[in-house]
Amino acid sequence: MGQHLVVCVVYPDLLGTYGDGGNGLILAKRAAWRGIDVELVQAPSDRPLPEADLYTIGGGEDGPQVRAATTLAEEGTLARRVEEGAVVLGVCAGFQLIGRSFPDASDRPQEGLGLLDLTTRKGSGARAVGELVATPFAAAPSAGTGVSLPRLTGFENHGGVSVVGPHAQPLARVELGVGNGGGDGTEGAWSGRVLGTYLHGPVLARNTALADLLLGWALGRASAPVDAVADLEPLDDYEELALRAERLEAVGAPDAHGWRRVLDRVRRRD
Ligand code: GLN
Repeated sequence: MGQHLVVCVVYPDLLGTYGDGGNGLILAKRAAWRGIDVELVQAPSDRPLPEADLYTIGGGEDGPQVRAATTLAEEGTLARRVEEGAVVLGVCAGFQLIGRSFPDASDRPQEGLGLLDLTTRKGSGARAVGELVATPFAAAPSAGTGVSLPRLTGFENHGGVSVVGPHAQPLARVELGVGNGGGDGTEGAWSGRVLGTYLHGPVLARNTALADLLLGWALGRASAPVDAVADLEPLDDYEELALRAERLEAVGAPDAHGWRRVLDRVRRRD
């Protein structure tokens, strides 16, 4: 029998403000389209967190973010599952709360889960709101055998500014927008199989290679090196490529024409 994969959307009642619950749906669909036996679980904050292989944590407002972090810390399942090799995607509030600390609405530091070496404080300038484009660093985990992650597209909306510590690695270099905002021009962070980003979109709708990286981790052995992602059957990503091309062109991102060429090729195939 094939592997049974459980994808869990963490606390959509608290962290459902920015549509990041779509990430769970995208992961489940991309697994199911490949014939993988997958279960998508929505996990409300008033129940024990289910055992899952892959957890997605979305963005939210400051108050619910504190409640989510406190509940997850008291409850303990997420940290244990990460120890056991589970994969985590944290977006915005979900990114900040898997770090070491983040500010509440009154700018008091709150303890994060410490799954990523990341510290967040309130930014002094305007809230970062708008499209965000970032190119993954060469050291970022690859999206499949020898394939590096393509540039990331999404939108950001946050007041927090995050600094990646020495025990995690920044994910990408910002081309457009703010990203982590700590002054080093980076966006997102990862460590082991825990990955965080400021990108909404949902991020996995616009960046299917990232979705497949997370799936590859979750389907591979927990002890495998982060670059040894399970090989996944390619999918026809015409619609996703069209979305990327449209979003990148809308912000005049330099390789938009490259995506246009990819799209033209895909169209000719139809
Ligand atoms: N409340 C956090 C901030 O403003 C996270 C916002 C979000 O999740 N979009 O930085």
